[in-house]
Amino acid sequence: MKARETFEEIRKQETKFSLRTRLTALVGVVVLFSTLISFGISKLLELLLPPITSIPLLIQLNLFSLVIAVISTYFLSKMFFDPIKELRIGMQKVADGKFDTRLETKSSSSEIQEVFAGFNMMTQELGSTEILQTDFVSNVSHEFKTPINAIEGYSTLLQGGDNLDTDQQEYVEKILFNTKRLSTLVSNILLLSKIENQSIQTHKEWYGLDEQIREAFLALESAWAPKDIDFDVDMEDLEYYGNEQMMYHVWTNIIGNAVKFSPQGEIIKIRLYKKEGNIFFVVDDRGPGLSAEAQKHLFDKFYQEDSSHKQEGNGLGLALVKRILTMADGDVFAENIMGGGCRFTVTLHSNK
Ligand code: ADP
Repeated sequence: MKARETFEEIRKQETKFSLRTRLTALVGVVVLFSTLISFGISKLLELLLPPITSIPLLIQLNLFSLVIAVISTYFLSKMFFDPIKELRIGMQKVADGKFDTRLETKSSSSEIQEVFAGFNMMTQELGSTEILQTDFVSNVSHEFKTPINAIEGYSTLLQGGDNLDTDQQEYVEKILFNTKRLSTLVSNILLLSKIENQSIQTHKEWYGLDEQIREAFLALESAWAPKDIDFDVDMEDLEYYGNEQMMYHVWTNIIGNAVKFSPQGEIIKIRLYKKEGNIFFVVDDRGPGLSAEAQKHLFDKFYQEDSSHKQEGNGLGLALVKRILTMADGDVFAENIMGGGCRFTVTLHSNK
């Protein structure tokens, strides 16, 4: 609770004059001094350079005061506005989820010190609430996994038996379908909380990117084969230095979505190439495309355009993709394409 103690300590410090009184006094001092100094300079110039005296004293005074006042106000305002600038940058970091942000100030003003200490206390509190929440989520998800696996295992056994009538077969299939959904949801929540908790191992190695994408594509065969989807694939042989296990989720999610949203018998275009030191992975589908609302929230947790949950999925796939790519210093973009459908583009640094 260090940040809170510092905050309380600063709050207790008594200041005789408020910030407003001190600022008003400072401006008064600046005006007084600039007039006095200008007067001195004018008199000195009058002695040293007689021609300048042809300019009336009042104008001379005004000119010199203006220059001195502008210079001193510049330094004065720096004293007050620099901390505000720092605070703005800090706020932006917190808005991006970086709760470990702490600010320090050299300002001697106790009001500014109090604002900074308050900021640090806020980020510390936010950080600990987040740890509590992610720990809770990850513990609960772990606890969910065992019963789900048991239901899935026994339902598979039941499905294999031959003493079930048609209705019972249908019920078992429904149980299996929904437990698989639940199982994917729990795995995704667990993975997301690990990534957000930064507890995921960031082990990196060189591996064949095109090979990995092919594997991901083959793993999705049960989704694309029944839909009779055609693939137009053109991928360069590319080596990539990154976390192989994490990147696999990126490809299965994006290709999986393209398959899920493509109508029967349509074509999906996949490209992988390197350009100007960056790797580009592009997937075009001929599905319904993205509404303006979907484009805004696509990468939010639990966002699904069709919230009726009729489609398979849980709205976590693209949130995961975005976070994995942010960790890998890459990015993902989505846009609609001419003639219907949408394009997902992943960019990565080539490292080579
Ligand atoms: P889900 O598991 O529901 O697919 P995602 O995070 O992967 O979750 O996707 C979120 C939402 O983004 C989807 O529900 C869908 O509305 C939209 N979406 C994603 N990919 C596509 C796509 N290729 N075509 C159209 N909409 C898409």
